[in-house]
Amino acid sequence: MSGAIPARRHPGCIGRFAPSPTGPLHAGSLVAALASWLDARAHGGTWLVRIEDVDLPRCVPGADQLILQQLAACGLHPDAPPVWQSQRGAHYAQALERLVGRGLAYGCACTRADIARAHAAAGHVKPRHGELVYPGTCRPPSAPPPAGTAPRAWRLQVPTGEAGLIHWHDRRLGPQSQQLDTAVGDFVIKRADGLWAYQLAVVVDDAEQGITHVVRGEDLADNTPRQIWLQRCLGLPTPAYLHTPLVCGPNGEKLSKQNGATPLDLSDPLRALQDAATVLGLAPEQGGPAVTPEMPLGDWLAQATSAWRARWVGSGQGSSPGSGPR
Ligand code: GLU
Repeated sequence: MSGAIPARRHPGCIGRFAPSPTGPLHAGSLVAALASWLDARAHGGTWLVRIEDVDLPRCVPGADQLILQQLAACGLHPDAPPVWQSQRGAHYAQALERLVGRGLAYGCACTRADIARAHAAAGHVKPRHGELVYPGTCRPPSAPPPAGTAPRAWRLQVPTGEAGLIHWHDRRLGPQSQQLDTAVGDFVIKRADGLWAYQLAVVVDDAEQGITHVVRGEDLADNTPRQIWLQRCLGLPTPAYLHTPLVCGPNGEKLSKQNGATPLDLSDPLRALQDAATVLGLAPEQGGPAVTPEMPLGDWLAQATSAWRARWVGSGQGSSPGSGPR
């Protein structure tokens, strides 16, 4: 199968940075990159980079290489060659097959308009932000959509009641929970346009790469329960999670490529790293590294690693894998 993931070097802690190549790194994405690198190094573990290019229409040609160059300019070098999700479709297909085989995933012919209509009919008001919870129109045992009805997405069934209440522990945010059926509903794992959904790709790859510690931006925290449920459905382990603070733009919203974040100025990588460290609570006055004249990048990174270790390694980590559907 193409896109096989190379053997890993140091068992123990394996972390990763998983950028979507929708543009170059910006101040916000460097925070996640640096934090995941520091966490892996502070554990004496391995750091991997995975290019999350499943949403091809949103990817910008060349952004993947640019991101890798930007990471290298900051001294953040992966311990194995990066992996591209666009080459791993066969692995996602296998996972989908297993879920369908276990009766946990089903084909769905609903359009967004169908979903909105079902909500309106039930008297629900559309939330201003966020997706509508899927009303379960195509969920078995309802009649499958007639053959030839397109488009057809694949959804994962989420349980209701106590089983649908997913508890998890975030190393920074503390105990978290989400009632999956009322917050999200049966969610898409393969899109109607044939593309693999982030949720499935990330879970399959984190498991295959042996990721033990996921460190990423806080905007993804509310995706975690979906991923934990998928891990349980596929019989995969749940890594430890740490979600980092977000960098906000002038409008108070999360800085993103979509809202015009400027690419990092890497004429001075130490400055960019220090800004990222400040967001992570590792400014010099908080026990983080101070930049001294002519300071080698490696020295700054070593000091930042010690500061990260003192702050985050050794307490309150991990989330216990729960039991999945049998
Ligand atoms: N590809 C996602 C992003 O760039 C990150 C996914 C993850 O870290 O789980 O926002």
